[in-house]
Amino acid sequence: MNLSYPITYIKGISVQRAALLYAELGIKTCNDLLNFFPNRYIDKTTFYAIKDLQPNTSEVQIVGKVVHIKSVAQKRGSRLVATFKDATGSMELVWFKGQKWIKDSLKINEPYVVYGKLNHYNGNFSIPHPEMELVKDYKKKLQSKMQPIYPSTEKLTNAGVSNKLMRNYVQNLLQQFFEVIEESLSLEIIDSFKLMPKRDALLNVHFPKSQENLAKAQARLKFEELFFIQLQLLRKKLINKTKIKGFVFEHVSDYFNDFYNNYLPFNLTNAQKRVLKEIRKDVASGAHMNRLLQGDVGSGKTIVALLTMLLAIDNGFQATIMAPTEILATQHYHAISEMVKDMNINVDLLTGSVKTKKRREIHQNLEDGTLHILIGTHALLEDKVQFDNLGIAIIDEQHRFGVAQRAKLWTKNSLPPHILVMTATPIPRTLAMSVYGDLDISVIDELPPGRKEVKTVHRFDSNRLSVFKFMKDEIEKGRQVYIVYPLIQESEAMDYKDLMDGYESVSREFPSPKYQISIVHGQMKPADKEYEMQRFVNGETQIMVATTVIEVGVNVPNASVMIIESSERFGLSQLHQLRGRVGRGADQSYCILLSSYKLSEEGKTRLKTMVDTTDGFKIAEVDLKLRGPGNLMGTQQSGVLNLKIADVVKDSKILVAARNTAIAVLQEDGNLSKPENAKIKKAYLALSKDSKIWSNIS
Ligand code: ADP
Ligand code: MG
Repeated sequence: MNLSYPITYIKGISVQRAALLYAELGIKTCNDLLNFFPNRYIDKTTFYAIKDLQPNTSEVQIVGKVVHIKSVAQKRGSRLVATFKDATGSMELVWFKGQKWIKDSLKINEPYVVYGKLNHYNGNFSIPHPEMELVKDYKKKLQSKMQPIYPSTEKLTNAGVSNKLMRNYVQNLLQQFFEVIEESLSLEIIDSFKLMPKRDALLNVHFPKSQENLAKAQARLKFEELFFIQLQLLRKKLINKTKIKGFVFEHVSDYFNDFYNNYLPFNLTNAQKRVLKEIRKDVASGAHMNRLLQGDVGSGKTIVALLTMLLAIDNGFQATIMAPTEILATQHYHAISEMVKDMNINVDLLTGSVKTKKRREIHQNLEDGTLHILIGTHALLEDKVQFDNLGIAIIDEQHRFGVAQRAKLWTKNSLPPHILVMTATPIPRTLAMSVYGDLDISVIDELPPGRKEVKTVHRFDSNRLSVFKFMKDEIEKGRQVYIVYPLIQESEAMDYKDLMDGYESVSREFPSPKYQISIVHGQMKPADKEYEMQRFVNGETQIMVATTVIEVGVNVPNASVMIIESSERFGLSQLHQLRGRVGRGADQSYCILLSSYKLSEEGKTRLKTMVDTTDGFKIAEVDLKLRGPGNLMGTQQSGVLNLKIADVVKDSKILVAARNTAIAVLQEDGNLSKPENAKIKKAYLALSKDSKIWSNIS
């Protein structure tokens, strides 16, 4: 007998019931049912005396006797009323439905345990439709005093599978199979975290003896769930590392050193140095690098990218950076060409608007190896673009590119080039750990020195005049201003109208020729967009009115004011990205969040968070709490959403402990072949075989 038996082996579950449970809840085996956890519990650890009942008491459990029962006529039909007494007082039990059956089956003057929602009316207490059980039956049950409530579906309820029935099934399962439940963690782990043994944990999660036992049982099961996910992710990473070979950048020589010693425009922050070390270790290892570089807007990812590319060039390889927009690619191109202009390095730019003649020249230089660094947009992915010897591909702002595109880059060479994906979208550590557990992650968690925090305020629409006044003062000082409008797909037409109305009123307030205004939105042709953006970048216009198209990466250090219209309609991460457009120069910058008076609780929290902090990771944590992990980037394809009992947000401490434990176990015993890890191995193999779990993770 073991837990992989179908649930029809459990007393009371017929073939039809089993089919229904499978169809509705996916429960097939005893193990499935054992791991089908209650989503809440009714605490029946307390008994009340009738004299102690208070009008605000909600659910109560009382021992007493029914002394009298009668039918009372009311407007429509009748109700059945029983007088219920204990040693301290008297109250009523009331039924509106099933009266005949109740009347016939209720035993007068026998002690019952009664449970239900307490009503208080005219100084009298009553319980409508109470749960009732004779004390003598109640005592016979192994059932705990905290009652599990299982998730259910309408079909199940209609088919008579009540919560009580589910409880019975699980109880029978535990009685029949308790002895075959096997421990899945090593003694060492159980001891060091003082975890509840597996059998006790399963028993207590279904039928807890007390709140305290329940907490212990849940902690144990959460740890176990997260531990095995981490074990799988980490093993997958280990296997990839040994299987997929990569180019070896063994030398750090002239290009890198020359740049580092003579042309580095500033001292690197400690975070930049640390990340660079992590990358250097990867690319020298002989394995293929697949690294995610996270760093808040303005944290200085570009210089890390450049130094990494110099490393490639030092070892005879070419390098490329792919950016999501032409503007961004152009900016990278200018910044990087400027930094290496006195070195013997060839850099070029390839975007959709590069003319055929120039394009041919680029292709030629790329193929004969004279071009060291190619920067570009999606245009890089065209088949005609063939590198002589591509060693590393850097992808900026990863959420704009799919994995397929990444893979396409790889095919340009015998071995895949190293991949460095840079993103300014902060992913909370806990989530990154569970979602990207098989990817290497570097974090630049420090801004370059001397950055002034962007001052952020929230203003209501009625304050618009003072906001205009503030804009004028800043423009007077030579600064530039962004005004951003939301663009939400479903109401595009309306958004467009908002934008145009806004543009009108701004134009009235800031008339030409004194003021010049750029406007950029999604319905414009790319060339027109580009032209308007460029005017702002060059300082020819002081105000940029735009939808969120400017969200990603534009760098205009002279822009110091970001005004966000209808800010309550933006998500937190978007607000944070938008704010990151200012505060890039030496001047004090400002972000003004405009909203209507009508704000949802969540909207209030978002705006308050923006006012309170500029730390992208803190903002991401709040975002995760508000929206749940399902809405964050990259989580859709991960297993974290299908967790049975753990929660990556609430249980982040357990997650960290589970991950560290998994790392420690694998470091000691990568194949889980030591006898002390036998239990872990067995459970691990069983899980890996279970296609459901495995496909979620891989
Ligand atoms: P992001 O991470 O958003 O791509 P960038 O690489 O564009 O950030 O850097 C933002 C600005 O900070 C650039 O103007 C860059 O020159 C500057 N910068 C980067 N690193 C440092 C540093 N260590 N010290 C001073 N300035 C730096
Ligand atoms: Mg950048």
